[in-house]
Amino acid sequence: MKRLAYITGATSGIGHATAEKFAREGWNLVITGRRANRLSSIKEDLESQYGIRIHISEYDVRSPEACSEAVNKLPSEFKAIDLLVNNAGLARGLAPVQTGDVSDWEEMIDTNVKGLLYVTKAIAPLMIKRGEGQIINVCSTAGKEVYPMGNVYCATKHAVDALTKGMRLDLHTHGIRVGQVSPAHVEETEFAKVRFHGDEERSKIYDDFTPLSSPDVADAIYYMAQCPRHVNVQDILLMGTQQASSTQVDRSGRKYK
Ligand code: NDP
Repeated sequence: MKRLAYITGATSGIGHATAEKFAREGWNLVITGRRANRLSSIKEDLESQYGIRIHISEYDVRSPEACSEAVNKLPSEFKAIDLLVNNAGLARGLAPVQTGDVSDWEEMIDTNVKGLLYVTKAIAPLMIKRGEGQIINVCSTAGKEVYPMGNVYCATKHAVDALTKGMRLDLHTHGIRVGQVSPAHVEETEFAKVRFHGDEERSKIYDDFTPLSSPDVADAIYYMAQCPRHVNVQDILLMGTQQASSTQVDRSGRKYK
């Protein structure tokens, strides 16, 4: 029987690459995001390429009602979720705390922290009922270190780091594995464009070094998922070779591709 992954924020970047990787490996999928047209075209593309089945679910993770309704309305064959990838998230703005935009802060907190909680609260009971499952949160190196002007985004990812640990304490006796991936800079995503509110010039942050790419992170997530059930990879911290910490990046040119 095919396994089933539920991936939030699958319309672009890491979530899309993860959907593609799992589809290639023969998993059925539930993919979510707010952009319905993208969800439909990804479904069409991956179903026809890999002979798997995909259910699409368009909603905003900031709404607790929408999160639980989306899960309640899943067709029965999409309810036996083996893996939840809590990926939907974003950075908005890069500014010191004294001049930061309050609506940017709220969007990050509501999406990265509260959205992750709402989705987890909707899906964990299904896993508990089956006595198995796995949850992988997409954290960040911003959940390990704080960088200048990253204040609120880093705080949300520190919260994800704490929630991964807390959720594991709550769920391990139910046979549920909880872990996270913590990547540094990742290209082939819309992350920078979203952070800088669509400003293409400011979004060019990968021109002078080779960061990770979204398929690199998808591979790490897949590695965690394919481990035998008695093995729980708790965290994979990964950076591109030209990056040594949040603030130390060798920007002397793209050395690897
Ligand atoms: P993208 O902007 O490419 O993808 C973000 C995804 O999240 C999109 O599919 C978007 O879908 C979804 N999303 C955002 N807000 C909401 C919302 N309110 N409701 C539902 N879905 C939402 O960026 P990434 O792929 O880079 O980001 C994925 C995750 O990776 C995030 O949690 C991010 O913090 C984390 N990360 C990214 C890094 C990077 O350098 N790129 C590094 C470390 C971690 P839609 O707009 O259709 O709703």
